[in-house]
Amino acid sequence: MYSIAPAGLATDAIESLTSYLTRLAEAHRVSVQTLLDEKILLLLKPPRTFKYELQSAQSWLAATPEVAKAVECIRRLTLRQDLQNLTLLPWQHQLSTPSVFHNVQPFCPACFEEARNTNTAIYEPLLWALEAVKVCLHHRRYLHFWCTYCGRKQPFLKLETRPGHCAHCGSWLGLELPPFISTEPEELDWHINLAQMLGQRLQAAWLQTNQSSSKAQRSKRAQKPSLTSLLESCYELDETKLAG
Ligand SMILES: [Zn+2]
Ligand SMILES: [Zn+2]
Repeated sequence: MYSIAPAGLATDAIESLTSYLTRLAEAHRVSVQTLLDEKILLLLKPPRTFKYELQSAQSWLAATPEVAKAVECIRRLTLRQDLQNLTLLPWQHQLSTPSVFHNVQPFCPACFEEARNTNTAIYEPLLWALEAVKVCLHHRRYLHFWCTYCGRKQPFLKLETRPGHCAHCGSWLGLELPPFISTEPEELDWHINLAQMLGQRLQAAWLQTNQSSSKAQRSKRAQKPSLTSLLESCYELDETKLAG
């Protein structure tokens, strides 16, 4: 199979594995469903219940042994060595929160539109999958969850549509949007700061796995909170909000 490079490598907007699978299918001019049926699931031999969870973030992005198996299988097909960084596997054995993902795939219509206009990869960064992340750092605006045309939410793995298109009606999800002016700028800034910290952790993990890092870089990273502690404090914050 083609060994296409994940988008956003070495940045805080590194691609998610579900997004990568969608682009991999497109590169081969087949649907994600065909790619799964004819290549990936043959190697993966998932349990029967898997098909019900096929489109969730948990099945492809979590720090679990099942995701490790899926990554290994896609690595064998593409010969890419950096695919674990498109998931939370670098934090395997550290994350103890039940789930750190949104239930559905959020997206930034302005990012999709810009990518199409500049002829660059239309993709979903791993950062957007994290439940704690509510904003696009590039456009400093809140992420969207619903298709503008049919109003339906987007699954993480879209089995029959191309990147940037609605999984249900097939419409293009990109939109040219005017700069976002928040009525609550402090809240927006808070979300941007949190997303930046989480994005830096994802970026640092890629650099750590794929480049030899200098002592200076290592000590700089050590001073920052880990992805695990950040996500766990976000989870605790949500629990407090629910309890209140
Ligand atoms: Zn954006
Ligand atoms: Zn739609």
